[in-house]
This record gives sequence, structure tokens and C-alpha cells, in this order.
Amino acid sequence: MGNITLNQITKKFGEVEVIPPLDLQITDGEFVVFVGPSGCGKSTLMRLIAGLEDVTSGNIQIDGRDATETPPAKRGLAMVFQSYALYPHMSVRKNIAFPLRMAGMSKEEQDAKVEAAASVLNLSAYLDRRPGQLSGGQRQRVAIGRAIVREPAAFLFDEPLSNLDAALRVGMRMEISELHKKLATTMIYVTHDQVEAMTMADKIVVLQAGVIEQVGGPLELYHRPRNTFVAGFIGSPK
Ligand code: ADP
Ligand code: MG
Repeated sequence: MGNITLNQITKKFGEVEVIPPLDLQITDGEFVVFVGPSGCGKSTLMRLIAGLEDVTSGNIQIDGRDATETPPAKRGLAMVFQSYALYPHMSVRKNIAFPLRMAGMSKEEQDAKVEAAASVLNLSAYLDRRPGQLSGGQRQRVAIGRAIVREPAAFLFDEPLSNLDAALRVGMRMEISELHKKLATTMIYVTHDQVEAMTMADKIVVLQAGVIEQVGGPLELYHRPRNTFVAGFIGSPK
């Protein structure tokens, strides 16, 4: 399950309110993209959902339970970090198995889960390599593999492709969309790239200065932008 509801959440850093009261509902299995200019609060919103930051007020429900006070590791969500978060001295297998090893899972169970994830990600042939022996795209897949084995209720991606070159970005974008189709798990994806938002999302959340300007499917936002900000950002040229 991966239903996430934000009820009137706010976030202040000191005296600065970065997120004014915000409501959002994410339904199990959706691919939701947070889009908006740099500094609009995309990462903050993601970190609030993940529990890496505490909300100043309001509450967060995950699958019907109040998760507002739940520590990140117990929220059942997996944040996918950029590929440089891999352990360089460990094999791909050990990198992917890392969260399972930490959870004390038996070696047999770890191997089975790692092999299943590697198969989904076309990494089966690379399990005994080290991250340094992989391409950028393969390293990114290892980082995703480490999230998959935890069988999260939702995957959270914060600009995961921003370090990759343009050609690789297009390929990885398609791979992440494919992965979403295969797993049918909720994915929340942050980007400032309109093309990424339009091509990947079931639902786009357009943010400006911590405020949701519009929520809707790509076509809806394109054809019926609610205001000039949304129109300028992803709307059709008028
Ligand atoms: P985005 O990811 O959309 O670029 P962020 O969520 O990183 O935006 O930042 C939103 C706003 O919150 C920015 O004005 C940023 O400077 C501020 N901010 C983010 N994190 C902190 C922090 N830890 N302390 C103070 N201000 C922060
Ligand atoms: Mg950010």
C-alpha cells in the first residue's frame, strides 16, 4: 500500500515559513511528480514525507496511520539517493543487500531478494562488481535496487538524474517509468524539469514558494492551467 495524505502541514526554518499550510493526497500506485523552480520547497516537502525533517504543524498519514512522529526508518518509504551514495568498497550485491543486512535478515533471504531486484533492474550480471566498475546509469540502478529490496510503500526520488548527462537522463527516465509499471508502487519524484514531469507523471504537483498552484494530470495542466504561473511552467503556449 502507498496512500499518503498530508493534512495542513507547515514547515518553518527559524522564522521563515517555507511551507504554508498544505494539503495533498497521494493514492497507492500513483507516479506523482513535484515540479517547480529552484527553492520552491520540493526537497523540503519530500524530506517531510520521508521524516528527514519534522513538520512544524499538521500531520502526515501513511496508509491510514498517523506517521507524523514516526522516524524515517519506520515509515516504510524508501528514499533513492543519487548514485554517489553507494559504498565503493562493497560489491553490487552487498550494496543492494545493505538494508536487509542491517535488518538482520538471513543470508538466504537476502540473496533471494537481491537477485529478484537485480533481475528487475537488469543488473544480474554485475552483482560481483564494485560500483567503480559500473557506468553512471548502472550505479543509479544499484541505488534503486537498494530501495526495492526493502519493499517500500512508496519510493521517493529527489532529482535522481541531475548528475547524469543528457543522453543518460532520457534512458534512466524511461527505466524509472518502466520500473513503476512493473512494481505498481507509489513513486514521488522531484524535478525542476518540465519534460520529466510531463512524460513520467500520473499526477503533477506544481509548487511555487511552498504553495501548491495546481495538481492534475499532465494533459489537464497543459490544456487547463489554473493561472499564469502554471501556464508559464507547463501550460500550452497561448
Ligand atoms: P527546492 O528543492 O525546490 O529547490 P528546497 O526545499 O531545498 O527547495 O528549499 C526551499 C526553501 O527552504 C529555500 O528557500 C531554502 O533556502 C530553504 N531551506 C531548505 N532547507 C533549509 C534548512 N535546513 N534551513 C534553512 N532553510 C532551508
Ligand atoms: Mg531540491
